[in-house]
Amino acid sequence: MILYALRCECGHEFDQWFDNMADYDAKKASGLNCPSCGGTSVSKAIMAPRVGKAQAAPAPMHACNPVGCGNSMCPMAQMA
Ligand SMILES: [Zn+2]
Repeated sequence: MILYALRCECGHEFDQWFDNMADYDAKKASGLNCPSCGGTSVSKAIMAPRVGKAQAAPAPMHACNPVGCGNSMCPMAQMA
């Protein structure tokens, strides 16, 4: 997962997650929308992409167990 900082033609900046660069290209081709104004002239803001990593925000509660957890960020999965 890659977090891109995007900017619309009005100057609104927002972040959006993409699976990878190809996913970004595909979504851009099919039309990215600014969440503030709905504008479709959206491009990457000049900023190094942040590669997906566990954010400091608390993870949502989920039924996790060492065998069935598919979340690679999950501490339980790392202990398995
Ligand atoms: Zn906008």
